[in-house]
Amino acid sequence: MSTKCPYAAKCGGCDYQGIEYDKQLELKQRELQSLLGKYCKVDKIIGMENPERYRCKVTASYTYLKNGAYISGVYEKDSHRIVKIDDCMITDKVANEIIVTIRNLLKSFKIKTYNEDTGFGLLRHVQIRVGRFSGQIMVILVVSNPTFPSKNNFVKVLREKHPEITTVVLNVNNKHTGMVLGERNIPIYGKGYIEDELCGLRFKISPGSFYQVNPVQTQILYNKAMEYAALQSSDIVLDAYSGTGTIGCITSKSAGRVIEVELNKQAVKDAIDNIKRNSISNIRVYANDATKFICKMAEEEKKTDVVIMDPPRSGSTPEFIDAVAKMGPSRVVYISCGPQSLARDLKLFVKKGYSVCKIQPVDMFGFTSHVETVVLMSRVK
Ligand code: SAH
Repeated sequence: MSTKCPYAAKCGGCDYQGIEYDKQLELKQRELQSLLGKYCKVDKIIGMENPERYRCKVTASYTYLKNGAYISGVYEKDSHRIVKIDDCMITDKVANEIIVTIRNLLKSFKIKTYNEDTGFGLLRHVQIRVGRFSGQIMVILVVSNPTFPSKNNFVKVLREKHPEITTVVLNVNNKHTGMVLGERNIPIYGKGYIEDELCGLRFKISPGSFYQVNPVQTQILYNKAMEYAALQSSDIVLDAYSGTGTIGCITSKSAGRVIEVELNKQAVKDAIDNIKRNSISNIRVYANDATKFICKMAEEEKKTDVVIMDPPRSGSTPEFIDAVAKMGPSRVVYISCGPQSLARDLKLFVKKGYSVCKIQPVDMFGFTSHVETVVLMSRVK
């Protein structure tokens, strides 16, 4: 299973290439043990049944060479050179194929690839998002301006080759920035978003919204979080850093009331739609910075029984943790994709009167050193 990827030397996307999968899991277990072992036993990492082809989201950049040939792939580590990739082994197969099909269409449609230095050219990136369980596929064409030549014909030809594509979106990014997506989305085919199913519920995913890239392992992760939360029907749950509200929706069935807080406006819109889509009536969503929001809750002496938090890799803030401690929920479930920031934040939680009861790593990112962890804490004082 240690398949050596032919692009590994240049791509740099997978830092665990060439290492047997079992060994990769061992390395992750060891890292978490050394960072978190002092708080409580780290349960055995839950690995993937098949550690390849798990990614449901992929972004490719395009350029052309001096000989006129177009290439697509990813930027070489710390550089502006694109490594030509035809098939990435951790990414959904159809998603890879669509990226190559688009590359092959550029010449006949006279679409110029964007040059980051000169700002000249149209196509900056292509992002593909696949609903693993729904089968829906979204193609996002990231362009420097919204005038896409023969766009209807382009979509027609693209869909002839890949009828499984359910929506195509032009995303306009005219800023000189490292961010892949701009803010404006123009659907040119289909609904402009995809849906996917997780834990028996259906979720809308728009171009800018976060959605876990490995939905198979995500269900395992969410089920673990649910088990840790041990919800009672009267519980008030705070789902912080809630994204499109996946965790909030899943917990709402077992809780009294759920409050979601999320900063990204597009994700908040999706979260509101997702509540309707699943006919849920006990969730409220707030568009706000999680720290500001919870500090205000604590100030107003609002109550919550369980906090579920799933911050970005950089973790949460001391103010957030302080406010949680003030509100004093009996359980905190912390989902983290950044072991370092998790260790830093757990230290603060312990200082504020929480004890770490359970730690469960779940591997969501085979062939890379990234690891996801879910932690249960309970209030001791
Ligand atoms: N719980 C969700 C999303 C987790 S990803 C899921 O399982 O899918 C982390 C989320 O935190 C992202 O949606 C991101 O937009 C959001 N976020 C980042 N910084 C934030 C902040 N300061 N306040 C609130 N949300 C934030």
